[in-house]
Amino acid sequence: MDSRPIFVISAPSGTGKNSLIHILLDKEPRLTYSISSTTRAMRSNEVDGVSYHFLSHAEFKKRIEEGDFLEYAQVLDNFYGTEKREIERIHNADKFPILDIDIQGAESLRDKKVPLVSFFIAPPSLEELRQRLRKRGSETEAQIQKRLELAKLELLQKDRFDYTVVNDRLDRAAEELLEKIHSHIG
Ligand code: 5GP
Repeated sequence: MDSRPIFVISAPSGTGKNSLIHILLDKEPRLTYSISSTTRAMRSNEVDGVSYHFLSHAEFKKRIEEGDFLEYAQVLDNFYGTEKREIERIHNADKFPILDIDIQGAESLRDKKVPLVSFFIAPPSLEELRQRLRKRGSETEAQIQKRLELAKLELLQKDRFDYTVVNDRLDRAAEELLEKIHSHIG
């Protein structure tokens, strides 16, 4: 594996991770989004090969067996994974990959001794996260409660990451992330 850093961003749901990644990609053209593969159904606003590579369960399983994945994890009922060739594609273009993966995925990369630089995005507080999930309006109160329980568990793992960035304000948190990324790529 190439020695150039691989940036990983993980966060509990509702923390604003996707918005932060968009800002980073806009502001730092040397970063390229690593397109994961998944078995989950495509959402209406998604494009195959842009948001994800959408695969059948059988195809995903075949690729696991063939050793195509740098890491993969089961999230709820679906599989998600980063294929080795995706990282190679980005490195070959002389860019740095940025991976949006879950906490299990980050953990399994740590075991593989790849040149990982990992970020955990934390909400300012669980109460603030509850407000943000409510504002999103896409889930019932029971589902929100489940997400908060999961977020509590995920927060316990934040010390496993190289950096924790609190997303109190999007622009400020993005600046902090960029500063840390620049300390690795100059
Ligand atoms: P969603 O279905 O909302 O797009 O993503 C669900 C979760 O899967 C998110 O936490 C996201 O970070 C995670 N995820 C997306 N791609 C990957 C991947 O390649 N590997 C792992 N381990 N998790 C992923």
